[in-house]
Amino acid sequence: MKTLVIANIINDKVTSSFYSTLSAVEQLETKCEVLLIGYKINRAAEQIASCIIVSKVMVIDDIMLENILVENISQQLASLIKGYTHVMVAADNFGKSLLPRVAGIIGTSQVSEITKVVSPNVFQRYMYASNVLVEVESFEDIKLLTVRTSNFEKYANYKASEITIEKIKYSNPISSQIKFLNKKIMDKSVDLSNAEIVVSGGRSLVSKQNFNDYIVKLASILHAGVGATRAAVESGLVSNDYQVGQTGKIIAPLIYLAFGLSGAVQHIAGIKNAKMVVAVNIDNTAPIFEYADYGLVADLFKVIPELISKISSSGSQ
Ligand code: FAD
Repeated sequence: MKTLVIANIINDKVTSSFYSTLSAVEQLETKCEVLLIGYKINRAAEQIASCIIVSKVMVIDDIMLENILVENISQQLASLIKGYTHVMVAADNFGKSLLPRVAGIIGTSQVSEITKVVSPNVFQRYMYASNVLVEVESFEDIKLLTVRTSNFEKYANYKASEITIEKIKYSNPISSQIKFLNKKIMDKSVDLSNAEIVVSGGRSLVSKQNFNDYIVKLASILHAGVGATRAAVESGLVSNDYQVGQTGKIIAPLIYLAFGLSGAVQHIAGIKNAKMVVAVNIDNTAPIFEYADYGLVADLFKVIPELISKISSSGSQ
């Protein structure tokens, strides 16, 4: 077995989803090699080299990769992965965009969003909005796997590194079909995908102003991430970066605080691995109460200001 993990590096930082992907490698009971792609990524490479499970670190470091477009790296990756039996990447925006392109180039099928490695050939994954958990067997020579990181703990076994970091020259042909224009950094103090606490709101918030004054404000006091339902997104209360669920982000916070959302199956699909769900809803028949560990039948517009005031006064004592 020869396993390669592709790391997603943001601002020279290793994303926590990478460490969850390493835990998926642990289930394969093997060591892995890691490839980092980006610009000025030395610090991240050194950090990764100190993980015990990592046997080799390779970097493609080039100014052309300062703002990675997967179209401009997939061709080179397709030739780099020859000789590996398993290639893994976190199922975040980067991984979900990259690996299918590589799969297309080499003509291999991919197994998406695995939640468990059963054996080197067999993987668990959800289907039908997370209502069915299946085991799939891959007969491909190279198993291309995206990893649903919310199902894996973050890898945390380090040692002083003795690994030399191998530099690989960037040689991908630049796509004439797509060009990077600019990027806008969103003001997200806490990343929803990795937040330990998430405060989430539904359509019932009614306006963008309310969403900010209640959900975002409480989240900021708790140093929590902000989540939302698709109905809240479609009503224009919040951008779709915050959508949780089947067609949004799949998350696994320690605490998920759900305010004024009904608990549709497509929303629940995104929080199945939350350790604790607390729901506030005025309707005691709302489906969210079937999933919640703690439920309060109450008006969120009363509960949230009370919570904010209690948390603020306990913090100032
Ligand atoms: P509603 O279902 O309208 O619920 C609002 C809730 O707020 C009600 O339970 C009500 O009792 C409560 N409420 C009202 N006022 C108050 C108050 N003052 N205080 C407290 N509670 C109050 N949805 C997602 O969220 N994520 C997805 O990824 C997603 N993907 C989808 C994919 C497909 C293919 C489809 C068909 C649907 C998808 N949906 C998704 C939509 C999903 O089916 C629901 O429509 C949506 O989740 C409902 O959002 P909501 O809970 O905000 O709204």
